[in-house]
Amino acid sequence: MSESLPEITPSRLAIKVKAPAERSIRQIHPWVFESAINKVSGEGLAGDLAIIYDSKKNKFLALGLWDPNSPIRIKVIQFKKSANIDQVWFNEKISIAKAKRKSLLATATNSFRLIFGENDGLPGLICDVYHQVAVVKLYSAIWYPYLKFLIAPILKESKAKTIVLRLSRNLQKPGIERHELHDGAVIYGTLTNENVIFTEHGLQFSANVIKGHKTGYFLDHRHNRKRIGELAKGKSVLDVFSYAGGFTVHALAGGASNVTSLDISRQAQEMAKQNVALNDLEGTHEVLVADAFKGMQGLIEKGKRFDIVIVDPPSFAKSAADIPQAINSYQRLTKLALQLVKTKGILLSASCSSRVKAAEYFEMVEKILNKSNRKFSLIEKSEHDTDHPISFPEGAYLKSGYYRIG
Ligand code: SAH
Repeated sequence: MSESLPEITPSRLAIKVKAPAERSIRQIHPWVFESAINKVSGEGLAGDLAIIYDSKKNKFLALGLWDPNSPIRIKVIQFKKSANIDQVWFNEKISIAKAKRKSLLATATNSFRLIFGENDGLPGLICDVYHQVAVVKLYSAIWYPYLKFLIAPILKESKAKTIVLRLSRNLQKPGIERHELHDGAVIYGTLTNENVIFTEHGLQFSANVIKGHKTGYFLDHRHNRKRIGELAKGKSVLDVFSYAGGFTVHALAGGASNVTSLDISRQAQEMAKQNVALNDLEGTHEVLVADAFKGMQGLIEKGKRFDIVIVDPPSFAKSAADIPQAINSYQRLTKLALQLVKTKGILLSASCSSRVKAAEYFEMVEKILNKSNRKFSLIEKSEHDTDHPISFPEGAYLKSGYYRIG
């Protein structure tokens, strides 16, 4: 049985912001920080409508949702022209989002990100679809009053029959929000099995939509997984930070002779094994449950070398203060990975820390490669797959570099 959605009527707040924030809003940037606000007409609860007027002419500038729990106090959802934030508004937003995914959905893929937060005009809201199950993940309480408007367009655009709600860690703390929904609540239809089977470029996977990381799986790397599959024929592959074995399965399907998945989580390794078993694959698959740094060091000491080494760590920089430490970890990982790549092999080095910009990341990787006594050449670089469009600078987080190591 699905849980009922909250009935919350948002209030309206009139807002004035400082000049730099006005400029940023005119450039269609969705974030207004607490420190940029000059005047607010009332107290404001999460999801209240924040109508921003320009300070000179008092004309409508933008409309956002008030977020008292975040330094990004207003998430702007409507620029230039006022609008009613109603069912019609949501239908249109989600229909536009779906249109951007058309080319991906023409492939043998039924798992995709339908809504990518700010980049699809719905800040702090993600919707990932796994075959007939849509998973809505909220990173902010601003969306509770509007959940009821999400159901119909998500069902229409995704063809899902079930909708699951996932909540970010900050929303799982007991708080002031005006609802009783919990992480993992089924908000539409029924969920017969929390492990949902779906297809990614013709291969089968399963995601645990209730307990899995984020919404259960990492859709952003889809293109890179396919690419590794294309490069893997007859190769030995090391998949570091393998999670549910996304790269592993694509490499085996592409004809890899053997793949080793390395991840610290035993549960993730179980998923990887299941995902390999879901597909009819030749080639051997080994799992190594270990810390990546120690596990790679152990492989080096045993004299193991691979044709392809993939390194896709979790985000190391959760805040600005973590950046130096994150860079240090990336450097150590790159040095270790390099020692595991055979002559003329490939290193795929990825980072999903939004605070470490792509240019800075690649410069760091290439510095390590330059310092080693091995020649290298860049094969290609990539960003998120096409169902993760980028509409503002902070929307870009994933970068991957493919290097041929001599
Ligand atoms: N490459 C994966 C996604 C990786 S997510 C894909 O394509 O889907 C990051 C993974 O890193 C998680 O599975 C987590 O368990 C693992 N992890 C986190 N810290 C780790 C560590 N110190 N050593 C090894 N694995 C780690």
